[in-house]
Formats: sequence, structure tokens, C-alpha cells
Amino acid sequence: MYHHRNRGGRLSKSELMGGPFDRKRINDALDKHLEKLSPSTSRGLNSSKEKERSSVPSTRLDQRDSRSTPLSKAQCSNVKSETDSEESDLSGSDGDDTSWISWFCNLRGNEFFCEVDDDYIQDDFNLCGLSHQVPYYDYALDLILDVESSHGDMFTEEQNEMVESAAEMLYGLIHVRYILTTKGMSAMLEKYKSYDFGRCPRVCCTGQPCLPVGQSDIPRSSTVKIYCPKCEDIYYPRSKYQGNIDGAYFGTTFPHLFLMTYGHLKPHKPTQNYIPRVFGFKIHNP
Ligand SMILES: [Zn+2]
Repeated sequence: MYHHRNRGGRLSKSELMGGPFDRKRINDALDKHLEKLSPSTSRGLNSSKEKERSSVPSTRLDQRDSRSTPLSKAQCSNVKSETDSEESDLSGSDGDDTSWISWFCNLRGNEFFCEVDDDYIQDDFNLCGLSHQVPYYDYALDLILDVESSHGDMFTEEQNEMVESAAEMLYGLIHVRYILTTKGMSAMLEKYKSYDFGRCPRVCCTGQPCLPVGQSDIPRSSTVKIYCPKCEDIYYPRSKYQGNIDGAYFGTTFPHLFLMTYGHLKPHKPTQNYIPRVFGFKIHNP
């Protein structure tokens, strides 16, 4: 079982960001998994989940044969010693009302993400093709939707981290689709209105609010940038935490479709440009 609130203790996004080596290690492991995933082993969207789960590619899982002999609590404690104190919390049914999505979107650095509707995620049609791109797909999806998985306890710490990383990736890949829908765009509009994406650093743009944009639609190509509708250029986000987010989770299309949809928000071109001067004289360009 995964529990985002408890997980927050040992693998919060900010910790990941703070620990580039861990993040790199997990991403490398994810990459390896991604390479291993071939269309023939990838699982279809509508086939039986239980059947799929038994075939989740995981050599560690098979070696330990944890299906027949699940980890005891003591073993669990050995695996994740630093979360011993939280172990009781894990099994307890507490009155936690924060969804994984809310939790994720409120992490430091994740301010650009809007909350994707549960309904949108639950519609298989919207997730078409993503099961091939994300390892631990079913587990990651359950995590995002707060579906309690009884299989989580037999995962190692490392595997749990992989599932969590996979969930982040899956959420990002759902997010980039969602923000192009009417509902998603209106969620992003609210964020735009509250300057969640920051403002253009260019002086002549006089604090123009920006929109997030990716330079590529392929995951892991480049980090997210901000697009200024006034000078029509892109910039690095101010926060280094935001600067670590994958640009593919926002995509190359979003800000431009956004400004076409909400045409009244498109600002006029800047009326003034900065003019370099030496002793008050414009510099002559030969
Ligand atoms: Zn600008």
C-alpha cells in the first residue's frame, strides 16, 4: 500500500530535488525499465489488472517470491529502517483527506502543475498509449488515484521509489494532455491569473505574467521554461525547483493554444525596446 502523506517523510519531491544523486539514480533505473519495456510486454489498458500485476517486470520481486511469503513487519523495518516510526501509520486507516494529486501539486517546485480531474484520469481513452511509456504503470496509476494497493507492502524501498517516480512521470504525461482540454485550460487560467507561472524578467515587459512551456514533447529532453506572451520569448523559471521539472509535462503547444483560446489575454507587443547607449549616444551598427 502506498500512502502519500507518509511517503512525504521519506521521499518528498523536495527531497528528491534536494538530492540530485538520488533522483539521478532513480531516473537511471527508470530509464533502464523504459528500455526493457517493449510493446509485446507492455500491458493493454483494458485487460485484467490482476493478471497484469502478476506479470509486472520485477526480478527482485520474483527472487524473493514475496507473493507466497510476504515481508514480515520486521523485514519491512529492515528494508525501510528510517520509516519505522511511520510503519504503524501505514496500516492505520486515518482520516487523511488530501489526495495524491493535491499533495503532489502542492510540493515545492510543482507550482506549475494544475490538478487533473479524477474523471479525466479514470477515462481509459485519455490515457491511451501511456502504459507503454511508464514502468509500473498500474501501480503508478493506483497511486495517483489513491487506490489502495495491497501489493505495495511487498515492494522494496527501491521499488516503491520507482513506483513513486513512475507516478510523477505518469501524472506529467496525463497533465500535458489535460491542459489542452477545456477543463484543463480553465484550471491553468486560474493559475495564470494568480501569477503561478511567474512573470517575464525582461524590463520592457513590465511584469507580464508568463505561461509554462516545453521545448520538446518528448520526456527527458529538456526542463520546463516560461513563455512570455508579450515579448514572445522563453526564459528559465526563477525557482531552481521548478527548473527541474520536465518540459514535456507542459508541452510545446500549451501556451499558444491557451492564448488562442483566451484571445483577450494576449497582450500587445511591448511599446519600447531597450536601446544601448554610450555617453548618451545610440551605438551605430555598421
Ligand atoms: Zn517578456
